[in-house]
Amino acid sequence: MTLPTLSFSPLDIGLALFELTAYAITAILVVRRLARNRNRLVEAASTDPLTGLLNRRAFMRALKAYDGEENMSVILFDLDRFKTINATFGIEAGDQLLVEIARRLDKVCGDHCRLYRLGGDLFALKPRGDAIQTRTEAAVARIRAALEAPFEIGPSHLTQTASLGVATAQGRVRSGAALFDHAHAALACAKSQHRGGTAYYSETLARDIERSHEIEREIGEGLTRGEFAVWYQPIVDRDGRTTGVEALARWPGRPGGELSPAQFIPHAERSGQIHALGLYVLRRACMDFRHRDDLRVSVNLSPAQFHDKRLVTDVASALLETGFPAERLELEITEGQIIDLPEQADAVMRDLRLLGVSIALDDYGSGYASIGYLRRYRFDKLKIDKSLIDGVGLDARAGQLLAATTAMAQALDIPVTAEGVETGEQAKLLSLAGVDSLQGYFFGRPQPAQVFAALAADGVVPLTSFKAASAGMR
Ligand code: C2E
Ligand code: CA
Ligand code: CA
Repeated sequence: MTLPTLSFSPLDIGLALFELTAYAITAILVVRRLARNRNRLVEAASTDPLTGLLNRRAFMRALKAYDGEENMSVILFDLDRFKTINATFGIEAGDQLLVEIARRLDKVCGDHCRLYRLGGDLFALKPRGDAIQTRTEAAVARIRAALEAPFEIGPSHLTQTASLGVATAQGRVRSGAALFDHAHAALACAKSQHRGGTAYYSETLARDIERSHEIEREIGEGLTRGEFAVWYQPIVDRDGRTTGVEALARWPGRPGGELSPAQFIPHAERSGQIHALGLYVLRRACMDFRHRDDLRVSVNLSPAQFHDKRLVTDVASALLETGFPAERLELEITEGQIIDLPEQADAVMRDLRLLGVSIALDDYGSGYASIGYLRRYRFDKLKIDKSLIDGVGLDARAGQLLAATTAMAQALDIPVTAEGVETGEQAKLLSLAGVDSLQGYFFGRPQPAQVFAALAADGVVPLTSFKAASAGMR
């Protein structure tokens, strides 16, 4: 069999070649367009739509690519009280602030340092290259400088601070993920210990974190094993009569040795265990003093408790179960608790007052609470912080400041308690300045409830009276 011979004319060949070229060009164009679309999709998936910055996904990808050889730092920064901006000025104002922050910071980032928005009000920078320490410190300084000028949000000029957490790879960090964890730990430390400051990850910080976890674990065990106790410090009136007590948490049963509340309360707050601990203190105090109609009881509320939706129900149940009258209970809060979420604070305070409980502003004078603030929240009592009392009798200015504070509280019709009164002279001067009640080592240190019960049984006022104390001073 003979095969048919194929013969092509030059025209056929030309046409075929033309078609082939056209196919090839189309194919190239399609591939290019697909690649462009893909790039666009990748870019969209890596970009934060609000600020146009690279997003968390891009950040995580870049971290994954970190091989442990290059010098690199991770700087995380989180805006302080951003929730308040959203709550006070609205979400749009919050967004406007984020966009402006991104714009200012993107401008200060050089080629060796990219800016990312990881979500919410959390941003990250990743300086790389030689002399990494210097480079990192310079980046931190640039962030601080960029935030310095106030932000014009609507009609308002806002000052916005940020807390920074920094971790630098110094040969020992093997993965980008570890570097990120370290920066997170440093940020958590900055936020809890010096809000608005910068914390650098270090071996010491790592040990502190470990110890913190250990104490948190111990608090959990301590709560189940009943290691905590509540002691009470007397509050006296100007005649020296004990009119109330402040309940203060103690941890005498801790196997590793007792810690003071200043040492364990912040850990309980961070871990959320303050809810159980605070409730224990409240119930214990209500139980211990339920038959003492002559005494009011003050209990401290931590910020986490104050912002907890269950607070009002918890207080109501504690009162109901112990039979303690609401009118004798006072809850002490600090101004920071309100500044964070003012609207929520209004509602919580209203509901607590509906129960019949009164509310005192604790540590007054250690922060920035203004007169407007005192008027808005109509506190039932102002507790003047020990730092304002310390100079009384030693320094004329301290005395004037105290007199002015007391006069202001009187004008607002808010009774005042002076805290941390340690000497008879202070007590006398404070009394003359018009302070309504006093509390401090001079009148009595915190003691177990039994001390009050035993002494009250035979009708004796359980503490050195103000008059006796003043007499003793002479
Ligand atoms: P705070 O509410 O301002 O309580 C007063 C603190 O000052 C108490 O310290 C008290 O013992 C101490 N103090 C009273 N008078 C004097 C004095 O004359 N001189 C000196 N140097 N100190 C005096 P404490 O019991 O160590 O408590 C420290 C802080 O821990 C409390 O400050 C409060 O913020 C917190 N805290 C204590 N118990 C609780 C609790 O049950 N819940 C919460 N959330 N916080 C608590
Ligand atoms: Ca207090
Ligand atoms: Ca106080």
